[in-house]
Amino acid sequence: MVTSEIIERWVRPRLLGLTSYSANKSLDVLEKKAEFSPEEIVKVNGNENPYGCSPKVNQALEGYQKYNIYPDTTQQELRNLLAGYAGTTPDRIVATGGGSQLLDLIVRLFVDPGDEVITCVPTFEIYRFSTDLCGGTMVEIPRDGDFAIDVNTIKAAITEKTKLIFLCNPNNPTGNVTPEEELLEVVKTGVPVVIDEAYYEFTGKTMVPFIDQYPNLMVVRTLSKWAGMAGFRLGYGIFTPEIAAYLLKIKLPFCVSVPALIAVKESLKDRDYLMGNVREIIAQRERLFQELGKLGFLRPYPTESNFVFCAVLKGDAGKITQDLENRGILVRHFNTPLLRHGIRISIGTSEQNDKVIEALAEIGEN
Ligand SMILES: *Cc1c(COP(=O)(O)O)cnc(C)c1O
Repeated sequence: MVTSEIIERWVRPRLLGLTSYSANKSLDVLEKKAEFSPEEIVKVNGNENPYGCSPKVNQALEGYQKYNIYPDTTQQELRNLLAGYAGTTPDRIVATGGGSQLLDLIVRLFVDPGDEVITCVPTFEIYRFSTDLCGGTMVEIPRDGDFAIDVNTIKAAITEKTKLIFLCNPNNPTGNVTPEEELLEVVKTGVPVVIDEAYYEFTGKTMVPFIDQYPNLMVVRTLSKWAGMAGFRLGYGIFTPEIAAYLLKIKLPFCVSVPALIAVKESLKDRDYLMGNVREIIAQRERLFQELGKLGFLRPYPTESNFVFCAVLKGDAGKITQDLENRGILVRHFNTPLLRHGIRISIGTSEQNDKVIEALAEIGEN
């Protein structure tokens, strides 16, 4: 039997046709092209933090002696730290190796084959990906021309099979926020609702205070963006103690690494420094938004995250992405029906943003 036959015979049938998560291009791809040195490349395709993590993290990791010992599977220290940061109690916190892993864990807790999950597209792809993996059906409700959600359509889409609703706020990849009243209206349906607050620190808006009142509400966050910890993989969520206990029960025992725990500890000690970087990113976001609008061939959408989504009014978004890559600049193009005519640009340092604007101005002239 050849390998492909083995796979087709034994692998779960629904996974044979699964669309994988389309991650952004990594740095190595461009670094392998000899024309660019690593320092020259402007990587603004992954919503990563251009300032890196706290320098305290590097110092602490260097001196650490016990990498041979497993982390604490009950996450006591980690949950205490994160509860302090999020303004809640440790029994409401669950941490995982990245926020994406927590989103996946939540799907595993609620979704059986045949169940339905609702989200509003375009949005973060992991919701669909994990729902597919669990055998659920993703019910995709289109956002409007400004990427606003429509609460009435969401309500109308709820059936007895609906197990979860995912709302990304601010929304990735479009950057816009949904007003609190609208989120609450969805929460009041009583269906388990996940608000993805991966970009919370860039907007300051949160649904966490409502969790006491609405036990079906869950909030997921990450240290990847604001704390520059994407490479460490650390996400967490805030839940009712009952849901948190279930999630802890079904998670893999050691899903948060020892270096990630150390990095969280140091990052939370260095909050002032990291939030200074966040403020700089926000200032740069406002500048980039203005400059992109002036180019004439892009329409940047209002954003409260660390990236800006632009509709391409003239020219082809895929070709612009390639032209930028040829100049050592990586932006994100999604080749999907809803997003194909746009590009997403993460906010870089002031110098990086200058390079992006200059390159786009050149491209626009041709
Ligand atoms: C980045 C991101 C996450 C979490 O990312 P991790 O790196 O896995 O922590 C979750 N949701 C959205 C919308 C994101 O953009």
